[in-house]
Amino acid sequence: MSTPSDFARPHVPDLHAYTPGTQPTDGSWIKLNTNECPYPPSPHVAAAIAREVGAEGSSLRLYPSPTSAPLRTQIAKLHGLTPAQVIVGNGSDDILNLLVRVFGGPTAPAGFTLPSYSLYPVLVAIQDGATAVIEFDRSMRLPVDRIAASGAKAFFLTSPNAPTGVGFSNAEISRVLNAFDGILVVDEAYAPFAEEDAIPLLAAHRNLVIVRTLSKAHALAGMRVGYALADPETIGLLDRVRDSYNVNRLSQVAAAAALADTPYYDAIIGKIKRTRDNWATEWAERDWFVYRSSANFLFVEPRNAAGEAGADVAAALFAWFKSRKILVRAFPSHALTASFLRISVGTDDEMLAVEEAIQAWLTNAP
Ligand code: PMP
Repeated sequence: MSTPSDFARPHVPDLHAYTPGTQPTDGSWIKLNTNECPYPPSPHVAAAIAREVGAEGSSLRLYPSPTSAPLRTQIAKLHGLTPAQVIVGNGSDDILNLLVRVFGGPTAPAGFTLPSYSLYPVLVAIQDGATAVIEFDRSMRLPVDRIAASGAKAFFLTSPNAPTGVGFSNAEISRVLNAFDGILVVDEAYAPFAEEDAIPLLAAHRNLVIVRTLSKAHALAGMRVGYALADPETIGLLDRVRDSYNVNRLSQVAAAAALADTPYYDAIIGKIKRTRDNWATEWAERDWFVYRSSANFLFVEPRNAAGEAGADVAAALFAWFKSRKILVRAFPSHALTASFLRISVGTDDEMLAVEEAIQAWLTNAP
């Protein structure tokens, strides 16, 4: 990095942009790199957006509800909570940013695990924040005692974990909540694909914040809607730091229409889980290590034709996929993840294309 000019010297030293997964602009890729939903959103979503826009777009003249009030009420009802326990954001990234702004800083360490969602350290660095990092070992067992003793003011736990897909039970999360005196943020981006979610724990634990997104199971990554569920006092603090109109008018109605169509989403989530489990079994039978996934992606450690696994093997398969216009995600920077690839669960046709590419790699790759 070049030395900044005097006029452009930020007051925090460590500004690094988050690097999102590649988003190709032409539609010719099989895109399994950012855990989007392979199916479209509920048909009610497009209808609700069209209705909101109106014939000449006249509604767009007006600001949206600053608090996303109708959506908060609907989300509260959906989860058996009160609207005061809900805040809506411009994607869950917005919510995570609010949490770090309120609870993180130079004297308030923000904790997270490695591996987990790599946006957390970026957000913490923007606040010149201290960090408390807890590393998983390959077993991916939740290090309850180490989290409790981390000294973090807020600890971010991705459950199900990304990028491994490993889910943590409410029994384990309760143990953390009981032993930890900071705020525990459970990032449940992938919880709709899991066996269990932590919402029932909210009633007994004022230090629990649950973060959700509509980008994954609800097929609305393009609309940018996420939310948090927490104690009203915590929600009140987050409301103080959010943008005045942080969720646009069309996203608010799109999210409302999606969340109202439970039967549609139950069906596609069920389909994604079946596809996930079938391919997990298939690839494990090939003697590839595959973490048991509670999410909409599989974290697999490929072996080449000689039976070898490792960072080079994962990189070679990544490149092979790319040469066939299949995008998956690699995590070369961490020892535990470097030998793996994360493959989002796609349609049956997309998954067959992945499998065909693997077979061709095993027979043809040098
Ligand atoms: N949390 C986790 C664990 C994620 O993987 C993602 C998506 N990359 C997000 C939060 C953010 O999702 P969004 O901002 O689209 O709601």
